[in-house]
Amino acid sequence: MHKLAALDRRYVWHPFTQMRDWAKREPIVLVRGKGAVLEDVVGKKYLDGNASIWTNLHGHNHLQINRAIQKQLGRVAHTSALGLANEPASLLAEKLVKGAGRPLKKVFFSDDGSTALEVALKMAYEFTRRTGRLRAPRFLSLDGAYHGDTIGATSLGHIDLFHKSYSNLLFKSDKVASPACYRCPFNRAKPQRRDARLYAKCNHECATQLEQKLERRKYAALVVEPRVQGAAGMVMHPPGWLKRVAAAARASGALLIADEVMTGFGRTGEIFAGRKEKVTPDFLCLAKGLTGGYLPMAATLTTQPVFDAFLGEYEEFKTFFHGHSYTGNQLGAAAALASWELLTDPKARARRRVLEKTFGKELETLWDLAAVGDVRREGLVAGVELVADWKTRKAFPLKAQAGIRVCEAMARHGVLTRPIGNVVPLLPPYCISDAQLRRMVKALRESVVEVLGSARI
Ligand SMILES: *Cc1c(COP(=O)(O)O)cnc(C)c1O
Repeated sequence: MHKLAALDRRYVWHPFTQMRDWAKREPIVLVRGKGAVLEDVVGKKYLDGNASIWTNLHGHNHLQINRAIQKQLGRVAHTSALGLANEPASLLAEKLVKGAGRPLKKVFFSDDGSTALEVALKMAYEFTRRTGRLRAPRFLSLDGAYHGDTIGATSLGHIDLFHKSYSNLLFKSDKVASPACYRCPFNRAKPQRRDARLYAKCNHECATQLEQKLERRKYAALVVEPRVQGAAGMVMHPPGWLKRVAAAARASGALLIADEVMTGFGRTGEIFAGRKEKVTPDFLCLAKGLTGGYLPMAATLTTQPVFDAFLGEYEEFKTFFHGHSYTGNQLGAAAALASWELLTDPKARARRRVLEKTFGKELETLWDLAAVGDVRREGLVAGVELVADWKTRKAFPLKAQAGIRVCEAMARHGVLTRPIGNVVPLLPPYCISDAQLRRMVKALRESVVEVLGSARI
């Protein structure tokens, strides 16, 4: 075993990892990256198949982002945002507000997706109380929702596996069904290529329960991951659903918190996913891709009325009492500015369009595998759901570790990604070449055949 792998085993406790299983294998120790390729300590190369857990946009070791960070580093790495302003954070705030569009006007910086959600939920809660709408407002979110791992963000989430053991620590939030079409309880949407009636009969029956809950008017906010629920297993919402529930939230007086930590920055095809349905939230939470996948930084954008509710005389203590040591970090903001330039370059947009098409075409090749139940894609995010029986959509038991085994085989084939249960996510960095993209999907195909059998339909 490599010396570094041994040190890891001895001292490091990994996130979301069963460390007993971890100890059974020699970990991959990554030492460098260039573009969509990562290299480990023994010189083996891999394609970064999930953009390093959904963070990387333009590839690793990108000249322009590197330069921006180096330039900032030559000046100063970090100064506090408590009582002091700085150059890159000011410039970045302007870009984000202009990019997000009305009615978002103000940016509150923090460190990661979880803190971006903490900020939004505290602001929404206090805004709702101060404006006299509700005295004890609650939050509404979707089944399978994931908004981060801090206690507040966890409270907004509804993945039982993650949330159950901490339930006594969490505040109560209400849950409604998510529009998860693959197992639609109303049998309306059948988004399988084997069944050509794509969303043919769907009238968003699943939105009715949500609307009924909202009508009780006890919510500070509805919290959603627009269009794609990442950690739920890349669950993709049917077109029109977001627009409908956003309107329902507004009609009930509830604010809309859009968690675009994963969907933001072009991942779904638009700069922000809500745009696909012309939905502008009251809070836009950004993190993962904000710095192009370089440094931990997050932003919560909100509206003038929310901002104004925290204005007052000093001694009134209407101040938003919240912040972190590294809020508005200068290196992070410099990286984010460079990433934003790359992202909004018209040529880069055009290239993403082409990539989306190629990606879609390549993914089509997976449908004829018996162990593949669903192939979902929106923009440059895909989820391939492995099933024990594609006809009944019966899931593999967790114990079978189908997702884990397929992803381990993919690593042997030179592609890194991490399963969510039985769903294999693919999120290519935007710098990927057509050939690399083909290789990525081919590795998944070959790994499914290797691990789950080659039966074709
Ligand atoms: C990853 C993620 C989070 C949490 O972000 P962290 O940076 O891991 O704290 C929140 N919401 C969504 C949708 C995410 O994908």
